[in-house]
Amino acid sequence: MTFENTVLICGYGISGKAAARLAACQGKQLIVVDENKTPEMRTALSELKLETGAEAMAYFGWTPELPLPKCGTAVLSPGIRHTSLLYKAACDALLPDGRLLNEMEFALASLKCPFAAITGTNGKTTTTELTTALLKAHSLRAESTGNIGNALSDCALEALRGNLSFLVIETSSFQLEPIGTFPSCPAAVLNVASDHIDRHGSLDAYAQVKFKILSRTLPPEQRVLNANLLPYLERFLPGCGATTFSAVSEKADFTLSGQTIFFHGKPVFDLSRTPLKGAHNAENIMAALALLRAVKGEAALFSEKTGEALEAFHGSPHRMEVFARRNGVIYVNDSKATNPHAVNAAVRTFADGRNLLVILGGLDKAMDFSELEPSLPHIKQAFLIGQCRETIHKAISGSVKCKLCSSFESAVRDACSAAESGDCVMLSPATASMDMFKNYAERGDTFKRLVTQWTEVMGKQ
Ligand code: ADP
Repeated sequence: MTFENTVLICGYGISGKAAARLAACQGKQLIVVDENKTPEMRTALSELKLETGAEAMAYFGWTPELPLPKCGTAVLSPGIRHTSLLYKAACDALLPDGRLLNEMEFALASLKCPFAAITGTNGKTTTTELTTALLKAHSLRAESTGNIGNALSDCALEALRGNLSFLVIETSSFQLEPIGTFPSCPAAVLNVASDHIDRHGSLDAYAQVKFKILSRTLPPEQRVLNANLLPYLERFLPGCGATTFSAVSEKADFTLSGQTIFFHGKPVFDLSRTPLKGAHNAENIMAALALLRAVKGEAALFSEKTGEALEAFHGSPHRMEVFARRNGVIYVNDSKATNPHAVNAAVRTFADGRNLLVILGGLDKAMDFSELEPSLPHIKQAFLIGQCRETIHKAISGSVKCKLCSSFESAVRDACSAAESGDCVMLSPATASMDMFKNYAERGDTFKRLVTQWTEVMGKQ
């Protein structure tokens, strides 16, 4: 076994397994290590052997006294913190000129098809899916990956096998943080607002991480940016041009006037054709159109295929999802709103006077809830839940009637009971869900189930 050709896979979950498959198909020697040990991991190794012939050396149930063999490359799964003992052991195992990569970097290094990248505090998934839909409409075998869909290593392998011709990569700040330089590609930064400050330290540091995806992208048509982020561009990448979009400013390449998106003054798409609501979704569409232009050229913007693909796109669940209307009340599941910026977007979309009953709260991520300020005049009552309910209470109770709720169930019940015709009951929590739920999807599904149950009970009273 030559150590230079050995890849150490740290963490054998979804992305670790994908990275192992990619490494095995490239003829690398494999070592896999995970602090957990499950029968499913063994089965996955046997399947890997069947598929690729690779015999991996496995350290399942790894504990820090076990030194790891030397390796030329170590691939870290997203869950492995830089403070963990496994991270330290992986660093110790590296040969002097070895490379420590996260799964995304490892896959990017082997990627043989063109790709585009998208980041931002909010709108990544929506814009990534929109861009993929547009590129598919223009005959590319495109797939969304990165933070969504199949792991990037799996897609890289499919591209090597000739089954994909383009990847649209959703990138989070966690994935970008350890990457030195992101490879050159059409890339978009959608917006930057307070989130994950507990991890990055400051808004500036967080923004700088996001701008990594633009640093190597040279022509301005490939660097796509919300016009309100130009001051960051000037600071982080002085002198670099960009294609800008904005739903509020006329000083951008893509602009909104009434219901129509324009590119350099020429109409591109009428928003009355899309079910996606709100100015923020208009910006997501503009960013996707800008990436389409970067990949397929300007004429693609004005093709009917583009309009048809946008019209057919219905968005993903848990994002401003109107799932019930009863007695003049609208019920909206916006469980994916995990920061104040996303809540403001939903509130702007559904506000009609002071008509919103909003459930807020969840995991404490050291978020700045004063950013909810633009929403406050529209909130009739806020129902506060979870680990940070007291913090939100402190931030908003001067301007909004608030109720501290002892459970998610009681918050839903109280919000439904308080709603009158013309109101909108909305779960748009401004926080992550993991203090009470497995993830945002479980939180959204629970909300929908409880609303359905409770409104039925109220209907019978
Ligand atoms: P992400 O992948 O960045 O979390 P999503 O598309 O999944 O983005 O949307 C997450 C939340 O942000 C949802 O509540 C959605 O309504 C809201 N949102 C989507 N796009 C934007 C945007 N451009 N600006 C602000 N909020 C947005």
